[in-house]
Amino acid sequence: MARCIIIDVYECNGCGSCVEICPDVFAMNDEGDKAYLLDSEAEVTEKVEEAAAYCAQKCIEFD
Ligand code: SF4
Repeated sequence: MARCIIIDVYECNGCGSCVEICPDVFAMNDEGDKAYLLDSEAEVTEKVEEAAAYCAQKCIEFD
């Protein structure tokens, strides 16, 4: 079964690095303080894994 992407918004500090690495999957909310998924069923690609690896808060997870 395909893995899904989860952002722990409580831990997210709004650094924006996931959006820089993978703008087709992640975006910042209107306040610019939390990331969210553009598509909740987005595939876990290498870029998504890279974004997770670079997330300083380690709040991008896979289920
Ligand atoms: S890289 Fe992590 S902490 Fe930074 S905006 Fe994305 S989810 Fe939030």
